[in-house]
Amino acid sequence: MISLGRDDEKRDGLTGDARTAELSHRLDAVRRRIEAAVAAAGRTDPPRLIVVTKFHPADDVRRLAALGVTDVGENRDQEAAAKSAGLPDVGVRWHFIGQLQSNKAKSVVKYAASVQSIDRLQVVDALAKAVAREQDATGRSDLDCFIQVGLDDDAGAHRGGASPSDIGVLADRIESAPGLQLSGLMAVAPLGADPEAAFEKLAGISEALRATYPAATRISAGMSQDLEAAVKFGATHLRIGSDILGSRPAVG
Ligand SMILES: *Cc1c(COP(=O)(O)O)cnc(C)c1O
Repeated sequence: MISLGRDDEKRDGLTGDARTAELSHRLDAVRRRIEAAVAAAGRTDPPRLIVVTKFHPADDVRRLAALGVTDVGENRDQEAAAKSAGLPDVGVRWHFIGQLQSNKAKSVVKYAASVQSIDRLQVVDALAKAVAREQDATGRSDLDCFIQVGLDDDAGAHRGGASPSDIGVLADRIESAPGLQLSGLMAVAPLGADPEAAFEKLAGISEALRATYPAATRISAGMSQDLEAAVKFGATHLRIGSDILGSRPAVG
C-alpha cells in the first residue's frame, strides 16, 4: 500500500500492541495443534484455518490479518456486515457460519466468500437471487456453499443443520443456481457426544455426496475443542474461535 494515511498509522499502532502479542501466541499454539493433528493423521493436505471472530472487535480482525490469517468466520449478519465494511483495506475472506434468515441473504452476499450454514431450500433460493443481483452489480465471484448437516439424532441436543436425508435435494438446488458453487458440508459436533464418532459419520455423508457431486469435496468441521478429531476424519476447513481470540465478551 502506498498511501500513508490514517489507516496505515492505525494499523501500525495496533500490530505492536499487547493484544496482538496475545493473539500471536494463541494463534501459534493452534497452528501447532493443527500441524500435529495433520501429521498424526498422515495427511499431506493441511486444512484451511478459519478464525471465528464473532463478538470480537474489527481491530482483532486487523491484528489477525497482520499475523497471516487469511480467513475469518462470523455468525451474525449485522455484526459481520459492519466489521467487513469497516475493514476495506484488510484482505481477508469472510465466511458466514451462523443461522441465516432468508431476508439477510442480500446483505451476506456483499461480503461473504462462503456461506457454510445452508440448511433449507428457502435459504438456497434467497442466496441464488441475491448473488445473481450482486454479480450483475459488482461482478463478484460465485458464492461457495456448504450444506450444514445435523449430526445428532436427539432433537433435544440439536445444534442446527439439515437432516442427512435432505442433503440431496439441497445439493440439487444449489447446483442448479448459476451463482452458487456446491463446496461440500459443514457440521458442528453434537454436545456431549464423541466428536470422532460424529466426524466419522460426517465423512461418510461427504463420501455419499461426492458420488453424485465429485466437486463437493470440502468438509468444514472442527472447533477449538475438537479440531484434532476433525482433522483425523478429513476436515478441509477448521473454524476456531475461543482458543485464538479468548473467551467471548458477554453480549450486552
Ligand atoms: C462459534 C462457532 C465456532 C467456533 O467455536 P469455538 O469453540 O469458539 O472455537 C465454530 N463454528 C460455529 C458454527 C460457531 O458458531
